[in-house]
Amino acid sequence: MAAHHLVLFDIDGTLLRSEGAGVAAMLRAFATIHGDRGFSFAGLEIAGALDGVLFDRIMTQHGLPAHDEAHREFQRTYHEELDRTLTPDRVRRMPGAAELAHALAARGAATGLLTGNYEHTAFVKIRAAGIDRTLFPFGAYGTDGSLRRQLTPVAMARAAAHHGRSFAAERVTVIGDTPLDVDCAKAHGCRSIGVATGPFPIDTLRSAGADLAVDSLADTDGLMRWILG
Ligand SMILES: [Mg+2]
Repeated sequence: MAAHHLVLFDIDGTLLRSEGAGVAAMLRAFATIHGDRGFSFAGLEIAGALDGVLFDRIMTQHGLPAHDEAHREFQRTYHEELDRTLTPDRVRRMPGAAELAHALAARGAATGLLTGNYEHTAFVKIRAAGIDRTLFPFGAYGTDGSLRRQLTPVAMARAAAHHGRSFAAERVTVIGDTPLDVDCAKAHGCRSIGVATGPFPIDTLRSAGADLAVDSLADTDGLMRWILG
């Protein structure tokens, strides 16, 4: 029964690509608040990272205090920057991703987000991509842990609260474009689909242990059978 299944979607590289606009908006937010100090993500692995952790790293690198109020101010400023600059022409929807979420929801499966994005900026990206946000009524976000694998139980708990039923790990599928998305699933006995529409080739996702690795999410019917079968 589809209703017993939970499918958690990553955003960047999986549902959509914002081609650097997200990263640029973050760097502008740092500079807006603290002045131009040459902020950069050089040397940091951004793909699959949590926004809250990136904030801590950058602040620490520049000797700036990363306390809660500073974090809130950063989130507000980044949200404004992204909202202002992420026009639909700067976002590309990944083939089949939103269609798959639609098809799953139409069959009664639970669909949500498991993303390193802050919650507010996650939905700025989803809106700019023209994806229906009601497909993702719950999720785990970039401040729900300090490691990506900590987000899976958070997303599962929110899915249970939203739907009024719990989901067994073996019926939970995590879809993402990085080895960290695969790890998120494996660490909790869930299944993973690695999709090579982000920076990692299909072989890397397979070696990371993805239960299924695909070039794209374009094959809606095939993926539906794999997920719900
Ligand atoms: Mg991603």
